[in-house]
Amino acid sequence: MNKLNHLEYYRLSWNLSDNSISWLEPVYKCNLQCEGCYRRNENDSHKPLDLIKEEIEVFCGKRKTDGILIAGGEPLMHPQITEISRIVCRIKKM
Ligand code: SF4
Repeated sequence: MNKLNHLEYYRLSWNLSDNSISWLEPVYKCNLQCEGCYRRNENDSHKPLDLIKEEIEVFCGKRKTDGILIAGGEPLMHPQITEISRIVCRIKKM
């Protein structure tokens, strides 16, 4: 008996589990203060690499996602942003 793979089902985009772009937020800190920003600017808010890797694996293993957007806060303020980019590329095989 064939095992069903939910990633092979046709589903409408933009539902709870399937987004064409997954939104990764490795840090909530930002060096700007844009008018209308809804994000709380939090110092020392960068997530550890293990947690970020888990989130990326959920995006790729449980969702149909075409791309991963690295957002924040300001993602370039994360001290390991280079490694985060490498993890995204490696897991997503970009
Ligand atoms: S998180 Fe984005 S919108 Fe908010 S202040 Fe920073 S750059 Fe501006």
